[in-house]
Order: sequence, then C-alpha cells, then structure tokens
Amino acid sequence: MGKVKFNFSAGPAVLPEAVLKEAAQAVVDCGGTGLSILCMSHRGGTYEALHMEALANLRDLLRVPDDFAILLLQGGATQQFSQVAMNLAQGKPADYTLTGQWAEGAFKEAGKVAAVRVAADSRKVQPARVPLASEIKVGADAAYLHITTNETVDGIQWTSLPDSPVPLVADMSSDIMSRDIPWNRFSLVYAGAQKNLGPAGVTVVIVRKDVAEKAPSALPAMLRYQTHVEKDSLHNTPPCFSIYVLALVTRWVKAQGGVAVLEQRNRAKAAKLYAAIDGSGFYRGTADKAYRSIMNVTYRLPNEDLEKTFVKEAEAAGLSGLKGHRVVGGLRASIYNAMPESGVDALIQFMKDFQGRHS
Ligand SMILES: *Cc1c(COP(=O)(O)O)cnc(C)c1O
Repeated sequence: MGKVKFNFSAGPAVLPEAVLKEAAQAVVDCGGTGLSILCMSHRGGTYEALHMEALANLRDLLRVPDDFAILLLQGGATQQFSQVAMNLAQGKPADYTLTGQWAEGAFKEAGKVAAVRVAADSRKVQPARVPLASEIKVGADAAYLHITTNETVDGIQWTSLPDSPVPLVADMSSDIMSRDIPWNRFSLVYAGAQKNLGPAGVTVVIVRKDVAEKAPSALPAMLRYQTHVEKDSLHNTPPCFSIYVLALVTRWVKAQGGVAVLEQRNRAKAAKLYAAIDGSGFYRGTADKAYRSIMNVTYRLPNEDLEKTFVKEAEAAGLSGLKGHRVVGGLRASIYNAMPESGVDALIQFMKDFQGRHS
C-alpha cells in the first residue's frame, strides 16, 4: 500500500482517520452484530440507534432549537436548490444573493419553480467578495433571502450575516459545523455532507417546523419536507451508510470539544496558510482579504504552466486535490474540519520548496 496522502479535495473531502477505520470495520461487521452496515434493515434496532444518534448529535453540536426539524435527505445540495423554493416560496417571490458558482446554481434552479429576484450580485467583483451591506436590496414581501455562506469554488465566505427584513435560507454545504449558527435569523439551512460532515449521499436540511408545515400539500411526498419531519427521515430507505458515517463524524466532533474548538483550529490553519501566500511574493490569493474563506483557500501562481507543475509535484509529494475548480482555475486548498494542522504545515513547506525551485 502507498502512503496515505493529505487530502485537500474540495469534496468529497477529507474525513478523520479514526472514522475511516471504524467505518471500514463496520462494512464487514457493524458493532459485533455479525452484519455489515451495508446490509442491514433500516427498520432494525442497530441502524435506528445510529440514525437517531446522528440526529441527536447534530442537534447538540449545532445547538439547533426545538422549533427546527433536522432532516437527512438525498439528492445533494443541488436537489435543495429547487426543493427549498418548492416548499418555502409559498406563492411569494424569493430573493437571492449571487456571490459565486454555487449561489448562481441555487438561483437558477429555484427560478424554475418560483419567482426569484436578485438581491445583490457580486459575482464579477475582483478580488472576489460577498456583497457589501449597501449593495443588498431585499424586498419585505420576499419569502426568504438565500445566501451561500461559503463559496467553495471562489474561496469567499460571509463573515457576518446580511441584514434582511425576511428570514434567511442558507446553503452551508462547505462550512456547516465550522461555526455557530444564529438560528433566530434562519428559516432553513442545508448542506451536502461530503465537505464537512461525512461522505456523499446524505444532505442535512434543518428547517423551522412551522415553515415546513405550510408547504403546498400537492408536492410529491419525497419533495415535501413535512413528510420527512413526521417520519424522522425514515419515510423510505435512507442512505444508511452515509448516515452511519455522519454519526461517526459527529462523535468525532464531540470528542474534539465541539464546534467552537474546531472553529478556533480552522482559523489558525487558514491564518497560517494565507500568511504563507501573502508573504511569498510568488503566490497570490484570489479573494478579498476581508472575505476570505476559512475552508477553501484559493490562490494563483505567476502562470498556468507553473500551476500545472505545482499540482503534479504536490501530488507526488503526498499533497492531493490542490487543483482549483475547472471553471476558475488556479489552486485551491480545502482545509475542512478533518484536515489536521500537520497537513497545512506540510503544504506550506512544499510551497516554500516549490518557490525556491521555480522562481
Ligand atoms: C459542493 C457544493 C454544492 C453541491 O453539492 P452536491 O451535494 O454535489 O449537490 C452546493 N453548494 C455548495 C456551497 C457546495 O460546496
């Protein structure tokens, strides 16, 4: 077997090593039951306990109040782009902030099932940032204001929430579980698991119960949040393995000391990496310094040939997944919760060596 690499992939992304080892064991024999986690009934006691543990741990770690339901769904964050509008627009227009690749995706899909409006558009601003307060116009008649808290491709993050006369809906796919969520500002939060929570295949949706209840009853059952609220996300066969690993990840987060501890660690990791970029005179960050992502660090080299060489040599040195998104190019180091500080240190050392050899 080759050496295990530091994985900087944007998603599916790095998971804690202890979680991977435990999950590997459970694929053969889950908790001494003699059954694989892949082959047991979702109506049996072993699975149900894990399912309920994942829900309870999420509620605990994210401090989700009782008037919100936590759902474990399929279809990824991409399914949520339209499902949110189907359930929450309820005949009203919905306002969107366009901050990058993912916000744009959410806006386009929602527009197929509801009347959508642009509250702000910062997509063309260079260096990349979220809209300033003065640039955001939200209608008081809107059903909600949609934001993408962390633009995974563009490497920017809302550092504080926008003012809004209506509740927020947020795509938190790439920064959920990395900071506290002020629930009084939200009616819904969603996140594909494969960045900060677990493997692909499960999507966490946290929705205010009174809002979910009011969704059109004509919606197909699978698309109506209320179906899943009433059944604890066991209406049909859930993605059992993904939810099992999610339960393990939430256990791991608890063992680390919770979200606040991870946030501190993440800030320290990001600060180190950005300092290495800024101080190099060689690497150049692409995001506005005030809105830089703590999760996805995007940067460039003096030319594209060097970027290609960088990605190749980094891979050979055990640093994987550093190529930027195909749409924007450049480099991207995703340093989610499960990326240890030693991985960031190894990347910084490699960057210094590479600069020495190529500048
Ligand atoms: C990865 C990502 C998505 C897409 O998630 P899927 O699970 O692939 O549908 C959407 N939004 C953000 C912010 C993401 O990072």
